Amino acid sequence: MTARVLVVDDILANVKLLEARLQAEYFDVLAAHSGPEALEILERERVDVVLLDVMMPGMDGFETCRRIKLSALTHHIPVVMVTALDQPSDKVTGLENGADDFLTKPVDDIALVTRVKNLARLKMLNDEMIMRASTGQQMGIPDDGALARAISARSGRVLVVDDHPRSASRLLEVLAKQNEAFAERDPQAALMRLAEHNFDLAVVSLSLQSADGLRLCSQIRSLERTRHLPIIILVEPGDEARLLRGLDMGVNDYLIRPIDRHELIARVKTQIKRKRHSDFLRHRLAESVEMAITDPLTGLHNRRYMEGHMKTLVSDALRVGRHLSLLVADIDHFKAVNDTYGHDVGDAVLREFALRLKRNTRGVDLACRMGGEEFVIIMPDTDVARAYQIGERLRASVAAENFAVAGETGIRVTASVGIGTLERADDTPETVFKRADNALYAAKRRGRNRVVAEAA
Ligand code: GH3
Ligand code: MG
Ligand code: MG
Repeated sequence: MTARVLVVDDILANVKLLEARLQAEYFDVLAAHSGPEALEILERERVDVVLLDVMMPGMDGFETCRRIKLSALTHHIPVVMVTALDQPSDKVTGLENGADDFLTKPVDDIALVTRVKNLARLKMLNDEMIMRASTGQQMGIPDDGALARAISARSGRVLVVDDHPRSASRLLEVLAKQNEAFAERDPQAALMRLAEHNFDLAVVSLSLQSADGLRLCSQIRSLERTRHLPIIILVEPGDEARLLRGLDMGVNDYLIRPIDRHELIARVKTQIKRKRHSDFLRHRLAESVEMAITDPLTGLHNRRYMEGHMKTLVSDALRVGRHLSLLVADIDHFKAVNDTYGHDVGDAVLREFALRLKRNTRGVDLACRMGGEEFVIIMPDTDVARAYQIGERLRASVAAENFAVAGETGIRVTASVGIGTLERADDTPETVFKRADNALYAAKRRGRNRVVAEAA
């Protein structure tokens, strides 16, 4: 990850120190020595995270942060406030001005890298979402508000795993202001709950009486259902060894006891946003894969997918000397359905036809809508005689019962079917299709509502 970090501090030595540490972690670093200079850089450069000193002459860190968060151009850039004094009031003011997290001087290395990494990742997810949304808009995919919801996500479902009653209830009290928060004392019960319900974050204490909190973290990371769940650990002061082990195993962030409520709020918010953003992207990816391979009207595979698949199947079948048959079905006089009942009823006929088609195919067969009222089933390991039987069964199941899509009696629908089979060593998907197409035309010519397995 090569994130760009803008370090803002009026004292050159502080800038140099942070710069050196960040560069050692391969971050790309820019520097500014005042609030106005920082704002000016943010306007022209791509920046992923801002580290902002609170105490600066002229425009202080709070005011600079407020302006970053007010501008539409920069409001999505995460800001970490660097406070000299560990004063809760600074954190309150920071949060009020839109700060995303805090670091206290002298800046601890682990804290620095963890804060910057988390916020840089959030920023990148955010950028990616916005880019995809604009690509979607350009392609005319309607925006259903899901993006806006994902970006504005602030609250989520949080499970606190802590067996110290007072600590747990204090955490719940702070978390419940923004989130749906629950507590669990026993790590195994917590794991079950996380796996069975949709949580957005686990907050795990490493000071459990009877169990190892890190073990729970590693179990969360290894379960399929919870692999992507953000985890924040609560660490005792001085327990750097376990903190580092936690971060190594993929824990996302941490808080050192005694827990500062403002840090808790900020870190929980970052993790929940991040979860929402990556859920959104994963969901969109699944959707676009789905869209690329399925026919929206019937849910069958589309032509593009079928053609790709057919190539593989033909070469596999030829290589190992197996049968492969192809069935092309075309609804008879479908134009008349549209003309008589309208296009919507026509669509309903196509959907019902697809259902009957699916009912007559095995799991290994591939059913697709080629376009219009033409459908295809590719049948591996199937010779021409068997393919004919399947075609006949499909034809009969279409003709047997009227389609209940209009009027009281429904509509009588029939289809003609052509079968093509892989016959020769030099066959290609095109030659097999040609055979099936010829057979289909023969079926139409001979009076429709019939199956033909060989071109006449
Ligand atoms: P044949 O028995 O020779 O196949 O006659 P046909 O009327 O079924 O064939 P033709 O190719 O003349 O007409 C097909 C019709 O299918 C014309 C077109 O408007 C309609 N059609 C194509 N795609 C769709 C669709 O998605 N929905 C609906 N409702 N109609 C469609
Ligand atoms: Mg037709
Ligand atoms: Mg047609």
